[in-house]
Amino acid sequence: MAPAVPWKLFGLAAMAVTLSLEGLLRFLRRKRPVREVLFFPVPLTCTEPVLSPGTSCSCPLPHTDSALARFLRRLLGARRSLELCVFTFSSPPLARAVLLLHHRGVRVRVITDSDYMAAAGSQIGELRRAGVVVRHNQSSGFMHHKFVVIDKRLVITGSMNWTVQATQTNRENLLITDDSVCVSAYLGEFERLWEEYDPATYEFFPEEGKN
Ligand SMILES: [Zn+2]
Repeated sequence: MAPAVPWKLFGLAAMAVTLSLEGLLRFLRRKRPVREVLFFPVPLTCTEPVLSPGTSCSCPLPHTDSALARFLRRLLGARRSLELCVFTFSSPPLARAVLLLHHRGVRVRVITDSDYMAAAGSQIGELRRAGVVVRHNQSSGFMHHKFVVIDKRLVITGSMNWTVQATQTNRENLLITDDSVCVSAYLGEFERLWEEYDPATYEFFPEEGKN
């Protein structure tokens, strides 16, 4: 008959191996934080591979990866919600991405600036015609933010307006992070402005019965 102590030791050793294997698996499966910075301008490239994946495009533009393509891929990764707060929005590929999400059933909400939403080339009208809800400021100060929150877990923010000039000509930056403190701060600001810009509270409509 084998002595009891070695069997106990064997059991303890097996348990230690199991625990360390579990720890290793947890370590391997851990969620890597999202920390990415994109810089613009970028040379004009075709965005069809991102906006219409699986289809072949024979346009003369280069079909290479770019900061704009990475930005579009992040946006198109939205599954449930997109809260967009942007001063000027006239970039056709970015508008296509937002419309794709809207048609896919993602809840899209847009806040923009009242002075610039009707400027030449603005995509805000296109979004509204498609049924995207857009709210805007009504005060004299610009609604100058440029950020978007994706699925309430990722924020993309920086200097860049959503314009062709910003992506192709200007020096611009975008920071992408899933840091929960940052995401909830930007979400809080979005919700605060969403309420403040509720059309029901527009001050430029005369009150009923008031002359
Ligand atoms: Zn192409």
